[in-house]
Amino acid sequence: MAKWALVAHGGAGVIARGLLSPAQDEAYREAMGRVAQAGAAVLKAGGAALDAVEAAIQILEDDPLFNAGRGAVFTAEGDIELDASIMDGTSLAAGAVAGLRRTRHPISAARAVMAHSPHVFLGGEGADAFARSRGLEQVDPSFFFTERRWKSLVRELERQGLAIPPRPSAPPAGLDERAALAHDEGKRGTVGVVALDTEGAVAAGTSTGGVTAKRWGRVGDSPIIGAGTYATHAAGAVSCTGAGEYFIRLSVARTICALVELKGLTLQDAADQVVQRDLTGLGGEGGVIAVAPDGQMAWSFNTSGMYRARVADGQPLQVGIYKDDP
Ligand code: ASP
Repeated sequence: MAKWALVAHGGAGVIARGLLSPAQDEAYREAMGRVAQAGAAVLKAGGAALDAVEAAIQILEDDPLFNAGRGAVFTAEGDIELDASIMDGTSLAAGAVAGLRRTRHPISAARAVMAHSPHVFLGGEGADAFARSRGLEQVDPSFFFTERRWKSLVRELERQGLAIPPRPSAPPAGLDERAALAHDEGKRGTVGVVALDTEGAVAAGTSTGGVTAKRWGRVGDSPIIGAGTYATHAAGAVSCTGAGEYFIRLSVARTICALVELKGLTLQDAADQVVQRDLTGLGGEGGVIAVAPDGQMAWSFNTSGMYRARVADGQPLQVGIYKDDP
């Protein structure tokens, strides 16, 4: 039985072999592997699953390849609104934020809500204000800007026949080369990490910019406990990515845990049942990653690809992108 284990995803979507250039393929594999190893280093040193989840997600949030933090997608109004959540399987404590515009690491804001507020879910300006009050790094919204995501927004607004907002000014210099490698998975993307630590505790976290050209304060599954993120010592920890509206309606993360806890399914069977049968049956697309207190690791997705990596005590790092990757 693995003493510790960690699984990470960088979003699911239209990620078919041949759509990524060799340079993109390499960049995503390198990033996923590096993030998994960074999280694993925390666990190997005896660190908590929650710390591994937060540390690994912070790296993904800073990487413009992924739709979370820096490099996130734009709303129809040309803003960037970030959502995140985190959950501790031991205590069932959880924290979530939606619509952040200034907090550099939304996952840390979610953790602060969990640890330092009487609440579970904060949204909008209040969520940024809370993060600021906790001393979390605040940035100008232009920090999150990437040219590639801006172009995706313009394309999507043109497709929908919507007005194109003024281009935000002063994007930071120096990001473009890496951001230009970002693959357009089709409007979406998210990052998530689940971990089991040497104390036997599991935790899950998820962070996203949501969906390109979202409007009206739209919030997806990622910051919703039970939908995009869930963790319980009785079953495991789950993080999701995909068409949020479907994940919310199926309470995907909680349902996977319930199938393990109440019906005795293996983690992989539970993940497959919810993704391949329920989600696919409803017409939703996406994927999940999961880890159980006994060291089981699982992933399941019904899209052409999902950026993913897993590593555990005594098991080598495994990185995948496409459906037919091992
Ligand atoms: N689940 C995210 C959302 O609906 C997007 C994604 O994971 O692709 O906001």
